[in-house]
Amino acid sequence: MKKIEYREQALKIFPWVCASCGRDFSGKKLCELTVHHKDHNFKNNPPDGSNWELLCLYCHDNEHSRFLDAEWLPTEDADRKKGPTSTHNPFADLANLVKKRDQYKKKDKADE
Ligand SMILES: [Zn+2]
Ligand SMILES: [Zn+2]
Repeated sequence: MKKIEYREQALKIFPWVCASCGRDFSGKKLCELTVHHKDHNFKNNPPDGSNWELLCLYCHDNEHSRFLDAEWLPTEDADRKKGPTSTHNPFADLANLVKKRDQYKKKDKADE
């Protein structure tokens, strides 16, 4: 089962509250509610939800600070909010290339 699919399935089964702190995440805050795997195996997804627990981002983080495993990853919703992180400017490189090309030209002329 894909991550986004088991999340949707879990949201169908459980009430939209954090199982740890009990906060209500219905409505716009729903993206802060994540699916935790009780056995910490994200590949173990029984459709009855017996391995799942809904935890908010903060409680989920706490739950995993004691464990190093691959289950805790940002949700797709969180990824979508991120803008492009690259500060690389392709035009700066282009300007350098043009400069270099002009230098070669000048050199050629000097050799003549
Ligand atoms: Zn919580
Ligand atoms: Zn978890």
